[in-house]
Amino acid sequence: MIKEFKEFISKGNVMDMAVGIIIGGAFTAIVNALVSSILMPLVGLICGGQNVADLYFKIADATFNYGALLQAIIDFVLIAFVLFLIIKAMNKMRKKKEAAPPTTKKCPYCITDIAIEATRCPNCTSELPAKAE
Ligand SMILES: [Zn+2]
Repeated sequence: MIKEFKEFISKGNVMDMAVGIIIGGAFTAIVNALVSSILMPLVGLICGGQNVADLYFKIADATFNYGALLQAIIDFVLIAFVLFLIIKAMNKMRKKKEAAPPTTKKCPYCITDIAIEATRCPNCTSELPAKAE
């Protein structure tokens, strides 16, 4: 039992998961701060200084605080939008890395990959034309 537990703890994926959860928590704080301190005041400005969360209407003695619902929906949309922007930026960075200039070219005679600066193919020993630029 204890041995099993030790194995479970020392397995890499438990630590990976812990790191993921902690990073996720910190990331959530960033997104929430961005939404509540920058985007919500903007929404407030657009709505004419009205705090959305304070909106309500009354029927008889019942108070319908629909502002809280509205606030939750706006928060959700803003957080989703911020995440979308972050993921989009990350994908862009990843694509840039992939699009690094090639370091090999194909020999036109034997069609093997050779160094891009090569002027003679190491495989078929053909002389290659200088790189056209
Ligand atoms: Zn060749």
